[in-house]
Amino acid sequence: MSFDPTVGLSCEDPSLAAQAPGTFEVLAQAGDARSARLWTGHGPVDTPCFMPVGTYGAVKGLDPDELARIGSQVILGNSYHLAHRPGAERVARLGGLHGMSGWSRAILTDSGGFQVFSLRGLQRIDDDGVDYRTHFDGSAHRMTPRSVLEVQAHLGSDICMVLDHCPPADASPADLRRAVDRTTRWAELAARLRPEILGARQLCFGIVQGGVDLEARRAHLEAMAPLPFDGLALGGLSVGETTAQMHATMAAIAPSMPADRPRYVMGIGMPEDLLAAIDAGVDMFDCVLPTRNARNGQLFTMAGRMNIRRAQWRDDARPVDPTCGCPTCRRFSRAYLRHLHGQNDPLFGRAASLHNLWFFHALVGRLRAALRAGAYPAVRAEILAAYAPGLLVESTPAP
Ligand SMILES: [Zn+2]
Repeated sequence: MSFDPTVGLSCEDPSLAAQAPGTFEVLAQAGDARSARLWTGHGPVDTPCFMPVGTYGAVKGLDPDELARIGSQVILGNSYHLAHRPGAERVARLGGLHGMSGWSRAILTDSGGFQVFSLRGLQRIDDDGVDYRTHFDGSAHRMTPRSVLEVQAHLGSDICMVLDHCPPADASPADLRRAVDRTTRWAELAARLRPEILGARQLCFGIVQGGVDLEARRAHLEAMAPLPFDGLALGGLSVGETTAQMHATMAAIAPSMPADRPRYVMGIGMPEDLLAAIDAGVDMFDCVLPTRNARNGQLFTMAGRMNIRRAQWRDDARPVDPTCGCPTCRRFSRAYLRHLHGQNDPLFGRAASLHNLWFFHALVGRLRAALRAGAYPAVRAEILAAYAPGLLVESTPAP
C-alpha cells in the first residue's frame, strides 16, 4: 500500500490554530463511518486513528521521532505497568510521560484495571475497588476509581480512562450484570472526583461494558452517555468472543454512542477489525498486535501476513511489500530481515515494528483521507478486494 500515513495529519499543519483540549469536530461522514479532529493538550488527533501501544512508556525499540515520522498521533501507556515500574510519582518528577519519554504528541493511558482483572487468583474485587498482588514482585496494592485517576494525573496523560470492571467473555449473565453496575458506580464517582484530581487540560473517557449481550450494552450506554466525559469507549471486546460477535457488537452499539464526542474501542485488533470499527463510526482504536506480532516475525501486507522466519524468503531480495513506502521496505529485503531475525538482532524488531505500524497507519489513513474526500465507499471496496487476511505463502521463488 503506497499511501503515506502522514498525509493530511493536522499535527503536521502549523497553520492550524490550536483549540481547547476536548474540542471535537466531525469533518466528514459516510453512513455511520466518520472522520473527525480531536484536540488534546498535546495537539490535534485526526480520526479514524490507530494508536500504537507503549506499555511501560516506550513502543518497544522505537524512538519518538520514528513514531512521528510514520504518522503516529497518539501512543498508549499502561497505568498498571507505569505505576509499579518506574512508579507514577517518579514519572511525574521526570516531567510526566511526555517529559520522560520525549514524545511530544498525545498520550492515552488506560486505568490499569484490565491488567489487574487479568491477574487471576491474585486479585479480590469489592464494590469500592480491587485488592491485588502485582505480577512483578507479588507486593499487595489496592486500585480504586480515585487511585487510577491519581496515577494518570502523575503520568500527565492527555486522555485518561476511568476504572471499569471488564468481566471475562465467559462470565455468567449475573456476573456480567454485576460488573456493568459496578462500572457505572465507579464511573459516576470518577466523574465527581475528576475536577479535583486531573489537570484542566487532561481529558477523561468513560467505558461502556456489557460483553456481547446487546441489551446489556445498550442499557450501559444509556447509563454512561449522560455522564460528563470527553469521550466514550467500548471496553470488554477482543477478550475471547468470536470475531463475528465483536463486529456485531460494534455495529449495533457504536452508532448509538454520542455523536458529538470521540468513540474509542479498546484493544482491537486485526486489520479486518479496524475496517468493521470504522464502518460502525468508531474514531479511535489501539492494539499491541502490529508491534508484538512484528517481534515474532509476522509482517502484515495487503497480500496476506508474512512469516519472515520461513525458509522460502532466504534468497528473496524483494522488500516485504513492494508497494509499501515504509523505512523498512525502502531499504531492507525479505532475505536480510529473515537473517536479522535468525541472528536475534534488535534491528529486526525495530524494522519489523516500523513496517507493521506503517501498514496499520496507512490502512486507517487511506480510509480517513477517503472519508474526507467523499470517496469512502469506493476506497473501502478497493481495500476489501485487495486485502487477503490469511498467511502469505508464495509458491514461486523470487525473480
Ligand atoms: Zn513496509
